[in-house]
Amino acid sequence: MTRPVVVAPNSSGPPTGIVCGVAGTVQNMKEALLLRMDDYTWQAKAYWWMMVLLGLAALGLAVTDVAALKPGAIVQVLLGTLFAATTGLFPVRVPGSKTSGSAAEIFVFLLLLDFGPGAAAIAAAAEAGVISWRTSRRWTSRIGSPAMAALAMSVCGTCFSYAQTHFPIAGTLAVGTKFASLLVLALVYFAIGTLLMASLICLKRGQPIWPLRILRDHAWLGLAYAGSGSIAGLLHTSFGRFEFSVIFAAAPIIAAFLATLHVYFRHVQVEAGMQAERVVAAEHAAAESARHLAELRESEDRFQSAFTHAAVGMVLVSTEGRILQVNASLARLLGRSEPDFADTDLMQMFHPDDQEALRNEMRGILVGVETSFSLELRCRHYQGIDVWASLNGSFFTARPPLSQCLILQLQDITARRRAESRLQHIAYHDGLTDLPNRNYFVDQLTRAIAVVKRHPERRFAVLILDIDRFKLVNDSLGHSAGDQLLIELAARLQAYVRPADLTARLGGDEFAILVEDINADLEALRIAERLHDVLTKPVYLKGMAVSTSTSIGITTSTFGYEAPEQVMRDADTAMYRAKTQAKGGYVVFDSALHAEVTMRLWMENELRRAIVNGQLHLAYQPIYELRTRGLTGFEALARWTHPERGPIPPDRFIRMAEETGQIIPLGRWALETACRELGLWNKAYPDDIKLKMHVNVSGMQLVQPDFSAYVRETIQAANIEPGQLAIELTESVLVEKLTVALPHLESLREAGVRISIDDFGTGYSSFSVLSKLPIHVIKIDRSFVTGLGGHDNGDEIFRGILALGRTLDKTMVAEGVETEAQLQRLIDLGCENGQGYLLGRPASAEIAESIIHRAHPRSARQ
Ligand code: C2E
Ligand code: CA
Ligand code: CA
Repeated sequence: MTRPVVVAPNSSGPPTGIVCGVAGTVQNMKEALLLRMDDYTWQAKAYWWMMVLLGLAALGLAVTDVAALKPGAIVQVLLGTLFAATTGLFPVRVPGSKTSGSAAEIFVFLLLLDFGPGAAAIAAAAEAGVISWRTSRRWTSRIGSPAMAALAMSVCGTCFSYAQTHFPIAGTLAVGTKFASLLVLALVYFAIGTLLMASLICLKRGQPIWPLRILRDHAWLGLAYAGSGSIAGLLHTSFGRFEFSVIFAAAPIIAAFLATLHVYFRHVQVEAGMQAERVVAAEHAAAESARHLAELRESEDRFQSAFTHAAVGMVLVSTEGRILQVNASLARLLGRSEPDFADTDLMQMFHPDDQEALRNEMRGILVGVETSFSLELRCRHYQGIDVWASLNGSFFTARPPLSQCLILQLQDITARRRAESRLQHIAYHDGLTDLPNRNYFVDQLTRAIAVVKRHPERRFAVLILDIDRFKLVNDSLGHSAGDQLLIELAARLQAYVRPADLTARLGGDEFAILVEDINADLEALRIAERLHDVLTKPVYLKGMAVSTSTSIGITTSTFGYEAPEQVMRDADTAMYRAKTQAKGGYVVFDSALHAEVTMRLWMENELRRAIVNGQLHLAYQPIYELRTRGLTGFEALARWTHPERGPIPPDRFIRMAEETGQIIPLGRWALETACRELGLWNKAYPDDIKLKMHVNVSGMQLVQPDFSAYVRETIQAANIEPGQLAIELTESVLVEKLTVALPHLESLREAGVRISIDDFGTGYSSFSVLSKLPIHVIKIDRSFVTGLGGHDNGDEIFRGILALGRTLDKTMVAEGVETEAQLQRLIDLGCENGQGYLLGRPASAEIAESIIHRAHPRSARQ
């Protein structure tokens, strides 16, 4: 009833095996050659041919046998064969196997019992033919399968019939014996048929033939055969012989049998499926856990590798603070080897001052306040130097022995810290002397003020030192000598003061010292005195012994200062006072100076108002040609008459205006007023030789970017000729601001404006500088005029100055001519022009106009 089938296992290529029954889907059937045997080994080919020939022979014998039967029996044989073939159309697929079977064996066995092995062989061949025809398109299969079925049945059937006839058993045992022998037959038939066909497959694949294994693999088929044999026995016993009515009885039995097989195999399939699922699930779980383990191991390996090869230093620390493991980077960072660290106290790695901070952070993690922390601290290098590190710490959960530990990562930031402290140093120190600078000094002074506020019994003093005539050194010996002088004096200062005192360079040739915790003002005086001695000792510059003096201004915290600028201002005032009193002295800021400062403050505000409210006016002092006493022009001089305090001397308010920047509006006002006045005089005296107007200009005005343009506009607005205006600049302003001033002066000279050097002889301009300047007039300082006729070679000096002026082709004007003797001396020496109280005091515009009128009465417009 069932047939073992073998199907080629491959699904993509053409079928390669003999198909002896149903065997799933075979791909590309169309492409299969009908009798193609190129995938057969020669043994398989030989075997196949042998089987086919033997099968055909068996079939031939069977046909002969059947043909010898009575016609009625032949019809029954054909009928049985038809049923067997028909049943072969309903195969039962065996799950998980490439084989399937049918219930056709029942008919084969029935035919054997009634008509002998020939009929059974024909039926078996027919059944096999139907199955292979349905499942395979290869003729090797379609021919081979029925041939082998016929052969198997012929052999088995013949043996069975032989036994039946030669060992007949009658009586009560007859039925039992029939059943038993049918069972044996069924099993032998199964065995032979299966081995015949399975052998072909093995030969084709070149595999050895293991009969027992083949039978074991197909054991279920044996059971089905046995079942078929039993049913056949049952039917035969019930009906006596095979006839048409058997079909009616057989059909439901066969249907029930087939259904049983179906249900059974489905159950087997479900079971197998569940089993397979279970297996798959188990395999999956096993694979998962294996993967998990592998991942764990991998992550562990990764950690170990990362730990070992990390560029940053790493250390694993127990919760008690003992070192468990360090990596190579950390060992390198601290100049040690890895084993040096084993089981040592973590804290030993760090600077004592930084240990507490680290301990606190670690405690935070251990008690669960923090999960991680960052810190910058100093590590101790093997060579005793400090290594700055940025440290990150966190909990680390790892393999059991280290399950509770901390991991610290340390990165070397020494270079960054060094750069930072360098930048800090640069920001707070002077590049030349390396002393703290003004910013640092002011910071410290602010702190000192705060301290004194809290503890009034503690006092401080501030000394401001200014080197006298430093500019002279700079100009005469060069800047490098000047720098050297500053460096030397800075070193002396620092060597002299106590370590707790702060010495700073405020800028230029100005230094400051902050002395804290002094007992009395006297102490500050003593320091100043000693400093003075230290600083006046000669300094050797370019092989020359240069002696410098220093002016020192002192103030103390007794004035109840609120802000550092107040302290600096007062110390500065005292220093300026020291400078004017006698070079190289020192002055302690006191109540008198305090009054002066208060006065200055007052004046500052008042001057601002005076400019706006028109409290200022100009006085005009005539300038004459000395020999002829001819009027050449005037110098405009600012005057301030305060409504309450009366006239305030220009020396005071001009200096203050320069300090506060108010010289800019003041200077503009003076220039515009003087030019306007001259414009009026031009109109009043049109035929006059053009009078000159000398206007004083401060250094601050000169550095205004629009200065020359502004002067030209003012000339235009006043309607005067540019040649009538002479701007007066002091020698020191010219020298100090030379680079900025020069373009303006060039531009003004091109416009025709005259430029005059004021107070000549008091500054330090050399002949070479003078020759380069675009100047027209030199005004010789009053002191040289005063010196005329004296014992100190005053005449000689004056003669020298005049000679210099003549060489440079400048117009010379003597200032401050007060006596007839001076006037006569000047005429004798050949000085062309002069001004002074003798010739005319600075006077109002009206008086000035009357002077013009007296000088040129005819030219006045009526
Ligand atoms: P300065 O430019 O040297 O002006 C000459 C100063 O000498 C004037 O002082 C004048 O009154 C004074 N003087 C003239 N003849 C004699 C004399 O025979 N004997 C004596 N002892 N003094 C004489 P003043 O007016 O007090 O001006 C002082 C300084 O103020 C001026 O010196 C000048 O540098 C400055 N100044 C005055 N007005 C202005 C101005 O409008 N702008 C600028 N930037 N500075 C001005
Ligand atoms: Ca002047
Ligand atoms: Ca002057």
